Amino acid sequence: MEKDPRIVAQSAKELEEENWSFHNFIKHSFRLNHSRVDAVAKRYGEAAEKEMDCTTCGACCRVNTIPVDEKDVKRLAKHLKLSQDQFYKQYITENEFGETAIDTAPCPFLEGNLCSVYDARPDVCRKYPYIGGNIRTRSLAILERASTCPIVFEMLEQLKKHLNFHQYR
Ligand code: SF4
Ligand code: SF4
Repeated sequence: MEKDPRIVAQSAKELEEENWSFHNFIKHSFRLNHSRVDAVAKRYGEAAEKEMDCTTCGACCRVNTIPVDEKDVKRLAKHLKLSQDQFYKQYITENEFGETAIDTAPCPFLEGNLCSVYDARPDVCRKYPYIGGNIRTRSLAILERASTCPIVFEMLEQLKKHLNFHQYR
């Protein structure tokens, strides 16, 4: 498994066309057993998660803006000993999708590869990189994440292999 996020980003760029074809394949193939595909992808994703030490990476915290909700803001403000107003002023803007977000990348709470507010981090950070679920409806998001996250990149590559994707191209 490739664990260096810079190499992953480069490889994902080289595989961009192939990955778009795979996205279309997953989206439109009626021959696939989609619940089986979901289970297989989850298995590969979980195996990659086990192999990866996120403290050596931090790529997701470097490239993504982080949507937050009121609970996140409350928790983070308390953790940083700020009022919620102060927290909003200092860290929150609207991102390109109109969401309330910590809209600077890299994230202001990233120190080296580590999260300085780990115990109070937003919910989306806790769930990232969102392994599991419906691959067919999430394939675009997966493609996007595969361009930065070694775990998702590995999951996608293993899934392509598992489905003998090359034979359909
Ligand atoms: S809050 Fe922490 S985990 Fe979330 S993006 Fe920022 S540094 Fe990463
Ligand atoms: S979730 Fe992915 S991108 Fe984020 S630190 Fe872990 S391996 Fe890197």
